[in-house]
Amino acid sequence: MNSNLDNKKNLLLEKLRELGIKDEKVLEIMAEIPREDFIADYLRPQAYENAALPIESEQTISQPYIVAYMTQELKVKKKHKVLEIGTGSGYQSVVLARMCKRLFTVERHMPLYKGAEEMFKKFRLFNITTLFGNGIKGWKEQAPFDRIMVTAAGEDIPDELLYQLKDGGIMIIPVGGQDETQHIVRVTREGDDFKVKTLLPVKFVPLLSGIVHSS
Ligand code: SAH
Repeated sequence: MNSNLDNKKNLLLEKLRELGIKDEKVLEIMAEIPREDFIADYLRPQAYENAALPIESEQTISQPYIVAYMTQELKVKKKHKVLEIGTGSGYQSVVLARMCKRLFTVERHMPLYKGAEEMFKKFRLFNITTLFGNGIKGWKEQAPFDRIMVTAAGEDIPDELLYQLKDGGIMIIPVGGQDETQHIVRVTREGDDFKVKTLLPVKFVPLLSGIVHSS
């Protein structure tokens, strides 16, 4: 990485601390991952701005603060089996995979699914399993999960995801329509009860059904 991007990365990490990110493991991992590799060349100079950026298929790579915040609130442990819905660029997946035992990640856009698979190979992350499909249904064959992270906003919390959480498991999901204020919500499963806590206001692309084969 050139020293200009290096400087910008250090400034961004300082900013994340100022904004209240306290989990040292999350900060350490984000310091190690080259965000510039997950975006188009023309956007490289903006790789360490605290902003969401466009990726293929009219989607976005999430804002670094939101990646850090959602990961911190998910309270991932090394022994965990984690499900991510919305692979996108694969950046958030790499952060999660570095924190857990196994990551299962689902994407509904074929070009993004393929691009992310390449990135996981490049980074030699062999604890990630990818699926091209509709993540609203979760991943029944691999359930239950200790943790679930959804990186697209649903109008509601999908029931099928709730029941793929282990007892005591946690899900982080942005909730709300495209024309209203969305919030990151944390769901904790306690038997057949689900404790819901509303966290930050956010703006995410929509969680949609069905799959898309081209860009
Ligand atoms: N974590 C990604 C965020 C990408 S944006 C990143 O930082 O790059 C959200 C992603 O969710 C998009 O790629 C979108 O295609 C995907 N998505 C939306 N609805 C989905 C669904 N039902 N199943 C799987 N992926 C979905």
